[in-house]
Amino acid sequence: MSLIVQKYGGTSVGSPERLQAVADRVVARRRAGHDVVVVVSAMGQATDELLALASQVTGRARPGRTHPREVDMLLTAGERVSMALLAMAIRERGEEAISLTGSQAAIITDASHTAARITEVRAERVREAVAGGKVVIVAGFQGVSREREITTLGRGGSDTTAVALAASLGADRCEVYTDVEGVFTADPRRIPGARVVRTLSHAEMVELAAAGAQVMHPRAIEIAARFDVAVRVLSSFTDPETDPETTGTLIVSTPEHMEGLVLTGIAASPGQAKLTLYDLPSGLRTATEVLRGIAEAGVSVDMISEAPGPSGMKLQISVMEDDLDDARTVCREVVERLGGGGVDEISGLTRITLVGSGMHDAPGVYARIFETLLEVGTELQGVSTSAISITVLVPSAHAESAMRALHDAFELEGAGAVPSAVAGEG
Ligand code: ASP
Ligand code: MG
Repeated sequence: MSLIVQKYGGTSVGSPERLQAVADRVVARRRAGHDVVVVVSAMGQATDELLALASQVTGRARPGRTHPREVDMLLTAGERVSMALLAMAIRERGEEAISLTGSQAAIITDASHTAARITEVRAERVREAVAGGKVVIVAGFQGVSREREITTLGRGGSDTTAVALAASLGADRCEVYTDVEGVFTADPRRIPGARVVRTLSHAEMVELAAAGAQVMHPRAIEIAARFDVAVRVLSSFTDPETDPETTGTLIVSTPEHMEGLVLTGIAASPGQAKLTLYDLPSGLRTATEVLRGIAEAGVSVDMISEAPGPSGMKLQISVMEDDLDDARTVCREVVERLGGGGVDEISGLTRITLVGSGMHDAPGVYARIFETLLEVGTELQGVSTSAISITVLVPSAHAESAMRALHDAFELEGAGAVPSAVAGEG
């Protein structure tokens, strides 16, 4: 008998009918002889609606900043609704079930309201209930601090609850049910040829999630990597009888890459900007001063490059558009102090990240990327790399055509492309 942790996102539990479909699926897994622990999100847009209420009552756009404790109290109500309803639906089908809040399930977090981190899961109560033959339903996205305050893990945090529970229970598998068929080679809403990736590594998924692929919460994948939890991402809209062992995307530590591809996937994140500081005194000291100042302004720098110019050093820095004002102020101040030439800026940029462990052994990956961008007729505003990824910064107006062309150039298109499903579970 194996233990499976299943997680259902907001769309998957978004209506009474969807909740019943989830109950059918859980019961089917149970009757196939598995122990099942289920983690649920709030129904549909419930979390957004609760936040909107808080905004109305307080007159604040971000009520969590002023009332973090109370916003956590409020938001955890969303998951309580779906967990209790699911428990009832499962019981109606003749299986035993019990719902538990994050606190009851002993998901222990630090004290940072609205963005708490899980420090420990003391899963005895869950384990006992499972041993007693029950399906245990745990509220996602919430925990309790050592000071006994109720906390939430940050938007999209139910994935993290599921993977942390799977790790602490020593589950055989964590199944993440969502509104798309799995992890795609690119966003299927924008790249029509995108298809489901059958298997990929934790490291590749961490990169894809960080680069903007929205299918799973990046922190959840980090926990899965650290504790070696096998995660399968699959659609809750498929027939419950369909074999979950063979559909969707399997994320493991070292997958067998049957497809022999150089790249596994492409993701994009818009809203980037670049500052260029020119005619600066050359040397490491200058760059250090700029970076120290930006750090002190609480802004995080993404890409950085420096190059000598005819009348001094040129330093380029990319930041999120939201941070541009703060970063610009610092840059101007430093340039003035050091007697530099000035500061230019470009906003409306998109990062496109190409991910794949396969590119280690493939020569000419850069050449192919650059040729492709040249053909698309875009300009390149920056490049950065990690062991298994290459990121390029391009104007957002060209981002979609660049992604399509790169997807094509690296033959990510599949003959057996899965049609894109309902979008937006996030
Ligand atoms: N309900 C929470 C949110 O909307 C957590 C989640 O769905 O993962 O962010
Ligand atoms: Mg989600």
